This record gives sequence, C-alpha cells and structure tokens, in this order.
Amino acid sequence: MEKFDIIIAGAGSIGVPLSLFLSKEKYRVCVIEKNHSPGQGQNKAAIGGVRATHSDSSKIKTCLKSIEIFSSWKETYGDDIGWQKGGYLFPVYSESDKKVLLELLKVQKNYGLNIEWIEKDDILELVDGIDDRGLLGGTYSPDDGSASSILSSNAFYFKSLEYGTTFKFNENINEISKKENFVIRTNKGEYESEYFINAAGSHAKAVSLMLGVDVPVKPDCHMAAITEPLERFMKPMVVDIRKGEASSNCYFYQNFEGQIIFCLTPSPQIWGYDRRASSEFLNESAKRVLSVVPSMKNVRVRRMWRGLYPMTPDGFPVVDFDAGGIKNYILAVGMCGQGFMMGPGTGWVITEILSGRKKKDDDMVINFKLERSYSGQEKLK
Ligand SMILES: Cc1cc2nc3c(=O)[nH]c(=O)nc-3n(C[C@H](O)[C@H](O)[C@H](O)COP(=O)(O)OP(=O)(O)OC[C@H]3O[C@@H](n4cnc5c(N)ncnc54)[C@H](O)[C@@H]3O)c2cc1C
Repeated sequence: MEKFDIIIAGAGSIGVPLSLFLSKEKYRVCVIEKNHSPGQGQNKAAIGGVRATHSDSSKIKTCLKSIEIFSSWKETYGDDIGWQKGGYLFPVYSESDKKVLLELLKVQKNYGLNIEWIEKDDILELVDGIDDRGLLGGTYSPDDGSASSILSSNAFYFKSLEYGTTFKFNENINEISKKENFVIRTNKGEYESEYFINAAGSHAKAVSLMLGVDVPVKPDCHMAAITEPLERFMKPMVVDIRKGEASSNCYFYQNFEGQIIFCLTPSPQIWGYDRRASSEFLNESAKRVLSVVPSMKNVRVRRMWRGLYPMTPDGFPVVDFDAGGIKNYILAVGMCGQGFMMGPGTGWVITEILSGRKKKDDDMVINFKLERSYSGQEKLK
C-alpha cells in the first residue's frame, strides 16, 4: 500500500493550494480527486472575486493572507493568474442600505481593513455609465480584487507538483477507515496516511460520513455568466445589495481580459446537485446588471454556468482539527461562496498549524470550529 504523511480529499479551491504549502514544508502529500484534472469541481465555477472585507475576524484574516498570495504570485513565481486589484464597490440607492453598510463599515474599519464610504462622484470615476439616479454613495475597498480561478488553480497545481505532491486523478474515495493511520480506499487502490484532510467541497458531508462524522454542508446552486470582451470601463467588483424579484443581490466585474462576469444570489435559495444552467437566471441577472449599468444593454453574453456553493447554516466555513474526536482528521470544508478567496489563506494557515508555528485555535480559524451553534449569520455571504 502506498503511504503518505497527508492525504487530501479533493483537488479544488482548497485542496490544491493546501497541497502546495504542505509539500513545500516537506510533508509527503497525496491529493485524491475524482475528476480528471485540478479545479474541475466548484473551483472553475467561481467568478474570481477576492476580498478581505467580510464581517468576521477569522474570515478577514484568512482572506488578507490569500490576497497577499494572489497579488504577489506573478512576481514570485512568474505565472499570470489574472490578478487585478480593482477593489469592491457596494453602491447604495436607499437610506436603509446606507445605514446597514455604514454599520458594517465601523466593524470592518475596527479590523483595520482599508474600506471607506465614497461619494457619488467618486463612484462615477470607478464605473463609467453607472446609474446615478438616486445613487447615495457607497463603500469601496481598493485592496480587494479578482483573479482567474482556472489560471490560479493551474498555477498552484504545477507549483505543488514541483514541491513533490502526488496527485491521483480519476479516483473516487469510496471508503475510509482509521486505526493507527487512515486507510483510504478508492475505485483504483488503497492508500495509507497519518493525517487525512477533507477538502471535498460540496461532497464534504458524504466523505466525512465515511469516518462517521457529520458536517453541516449542503450544495446551494448559484449561476454565473460571462460576456464578450469590452474596452475597460469599470475597475471594481460591483455588488448591488438591493433585493430583486428572484434574487437577494447581484455582483459583477470586468475581468483581466475585459469580459464582464456576473452572478446573483437566487431568492429563494436553490438546493441540490443539479448543475444544469437555466435561462431564468439570465432574465433576472440581465435586468439586475442593467439596472446598475444601463449602457451595457447591447453587450453579448457568451456563456453561462451553474455551480454549487458548499453551504453551511451560518455562512461560515468549517476548518477544524481532530474533528469529531478523530485524531489527525482535519476539515477544510463549507467554504460557501468564498472558497476561491479562502483557498490560499486556508492552505497556508493549516500548514502553519501542522508545522507547530501556530496553535489549533489561531485567530485565523478560531471561528470555524465544527462544534459551534451555527446561529450567527455572515452579513455578506
Ligand atoms: C457561480 C459561482 C460563483 C462563485 N464565485 C466565487 C468568487 O467570486 N469567489 C470565491 O471565493 N468563491 C466563489 N464561488 C464559491 C467557490 O467556487 C467555492 O466556495 C469553492 O470552489 C469551494 O472550494 P472547495 O475546495 O471546498 O470545493 P471544490 O473546488 O469543489 O473542490 C472539491 C473537490 O473534491 C472532489 N471530490 C469530492 N468528493 C470526492 C471523492 N469522494 N473522491 C475524490 N474527490 C472528491 C471534487 O471533485 C472537487 O474537485 C462561486 C461559486 C459559484 C457556484
């Protein structure tokens, strides 16, 4: 039986950067992935938004680390992952939304985040053609940004290979047992390891149940679409928090190739594993995007897709050690709508903890325990 120090389930937004940091630290790492190549689960569905401006300290700290890694990747390793430091803009059209964002701003500033309330004229500079009728201003965080989830996953994968990670593709984990070590059985073989890390995304619950540990993660469907490339007219990711007919928010940005990528949060939520795209999304999202930037009305949409947020009841991830009382069983799951931006920071902090440089209750993970009430709510899921 092949033996490793650490086996990771899933070569996705979390598993790939995690394997990179662990291998760099000289652990013998194996990533088992049921798809044929890295990033083919929900990673490739992510539209690439990366922000630290959350409402929870562990998420903020993890994403600040991720931003450091994304933003310096090209300079450090040479690959272009499409990183753009365009910021996040939350334009506001009502007094009630203004109140909510100003309250949140206080919390975010307390965490030292670079975010400010900006006026209408500043917004017009950031997004040419934004509807300024009734625009009251908005919050803007210039250090946030975006990157291509596909280019990032490939870059992390090749670096991880270079550091010595073994990837087993087209292998489905079917059974896991634990005595002294973990024994992982796939459709192709059996592997042994001292540590087992569950990074199986929207399938995290099924994988965890193989060890008898339940995790409250279920698939929550979201769709996105991409347009033809356009001359640059907007800098930030725009998040419109107004409620729509069938959506609770909508967000879009112009990527490094000039294309607009847009997404919304369906209301009510759509649960399940059905990934077939539906034209209802396009009706709702086109209306929403045009209500913010009316001049986009003749832009052609090239492609749309549907993916799954690995959702938890409170919108926060689960990153935990010795989970369910099983020694060396690590959970890095329930990333909700932020797994791409959480990936590098989560991989880095798990490696720091396993290497003994940080404690298991470090600030970056303290709020992500499996055993918690799940009664809180992330304000900007
Ligand atoms: C439309 C849309 C837009 C999004 N936009 C953003 C965004 O802008 N920014 C952001 O940060 N996030 C975004 N997300 C969320 C993000 O895609 C997810 O949070 C993230 O991909 C989850 O990462 P993960 O590693 O947990 O899961 P995945 O990336 O899905 O990786 C898990 C892997 O585990 C594998 N696996 C599962 N079970 C097994 C098994 N039994 N055996 C072997 N392999 C297995 C899967 O095949 C998969 O490859 C978006 C999601 C959607 C759907």
